[in-house]
Amino acid sequence: MIDRLTGFKGVRAGRAFALLAALFVLTFGIMVVLIAIDQQRVLDSTTRLQEQTVPEIIRFQRLARNLEQLRQEGERVFAAITPQARQQAMFVVTLVASHPSVLEHRESAELARQTERFLADVVRQSVRDDKALASSFEEWQRMAARLGLLVDDVSIQGINLASNDLGDVSAAMNLARIKLSVALLVVGVFLVLFLVLLRAHLIHPLQRIDQALSTLSVDQPLPAFKPAAMVEIQAVEEAIGELHDSLVRNEQARLALESLANKDGLTGLTNRRHFMQIADAELQRAQRYRRPVTVGMADLDFFKKVNDTYGHAAGDTVLRAFAGLALETLRQSDLICRYGGEEFAFVFPESTLDEAARLAERFRASCAEHDIRLADGQLVRVTLSMGLADASDCPLETALNQADAALYDAKQQGRNRVVAAASLPVGE
Ligand code: GH3
Ligand code: MG
Ligand code: MG
Repeated sequence: MIDRLTGFKGVRAGRAFALLAALFVLTFGIMVVLIAIDQQRVLDSTTRLQEQTVPEIIRFQRLARNLEQLRQEGERVFAAITPQARQQAMFVVTLVASHPSVLEHRESAELARQTERFLADVVRQSVRDDKALASSFEEWQRMAARLGLLVDDVSIQGINLASNDLGDVSAAMNLARIKLSVALLVVGVFLVLFLVLLRAHLIHPLQRIDQALSTLSVDQPLPAFKPAAMVEIQAVEEAIGELHDSLVRNEQARLALESLANKDGLTGLTNRRHFMQIADAELQRAQRYRRPVTVGMADLDFFKKVNDTYGHAAGDTVLRAFAGLALETLRQSDLICRYGGEEFAFVFPESTLDEAARLAERFRASCAEHDIRLADGQLVRVTLSMGLADASDCPLETALNQADAALYDAKQQGRNRVVAAASLPVGE
């Protein structure tokens, strides 16, 4: 199959939209991958928070609680009144100081070991010396303060761990949100671009084509199309142009054929067949509106003699000249036809028999005075006889028969005259 579109300079709609779609898919795909990466980061951060950070925080909390308990038990060692109560407090100090959560944290393990050793010394000395407690109390307060500071440190470390991870999550989520907004913006821009292109290069041209097709007519010139960007549209527009040209050519051919079919080949006057149609229509119109109308039949006098004297071609020239004179002399609204041979038929609309007789008489007179120049330069004159009949109240055939009878009378009365049916001859 021949591709009609190859001759056009422009963009193929299919390719343009495929390219746009590919670009869109590529851009959107990249955005989706970038968003997916961020989503993965969010997922990783939350998993880490859940699986590592939260247990870590719990460990830090437990450590802080143990260190606090260590400090409180130390206080109880100093506050205890009896040696048994002091021993009990010391027992708990030993337990807490050797707790795994304390031991696995280097700084806490060191301070817990020092505290335990210090308190054990204090308890041991207090058995022998009552004043040992009081003398060690100041140092205990320093140690208790260090324990308190470490509790705060440990708590803050736990909180920091949590806030770091939460910060990571929220940063990743923020990034994902920004990228999602950009992706939506890209989609929006593509959509707008797509619609603008669709409107400018498909919808508008299609509307223009629709308009052109709906007003396509041989009577009107084809509206000029703005140069279209899409070759498919250009092809359709060109096809419309070709269609219009072919409509015009067809109409011209139809008019030429119609003219050939309706006109007499020699004189160019209306032929008998067409005359019968238009004369009938004219009579019907006149009769419907009760308007006067007259028909006439004319015949050239002694035409045979013209042929015999000057030849058949000269006879043709005379017939043509006679037709030209009739068109010149009679009114535009009068219908004139070559009825056959050297016989002519007429319809005089809006004319009574008298008015038509005056008109016909003028024509007869000008014909009788008119020199017809033959091809060899000779001049020849012909006269005509004409019969008229009122047609305002009878069918065309009847009126023509009456006019023909009047024509016969005109011939009988000596030719070169106009005779109105059922009336006296007019002029001579
Ligand atoms: P009348 O006054 O009684 O009408 O005499 P006429 O000689 O005109 O009548 P007739 O009917 O005897 O002759 C008509 C002639 O017209 C005969 C014919 O050869 C001629 N004729 C008819 N048609 C044509 C035509 O197309 N061309 C030419 N050159 N002559 C034609
Ligand atoms: Mg005749
Ligand atoms: Mg004749």
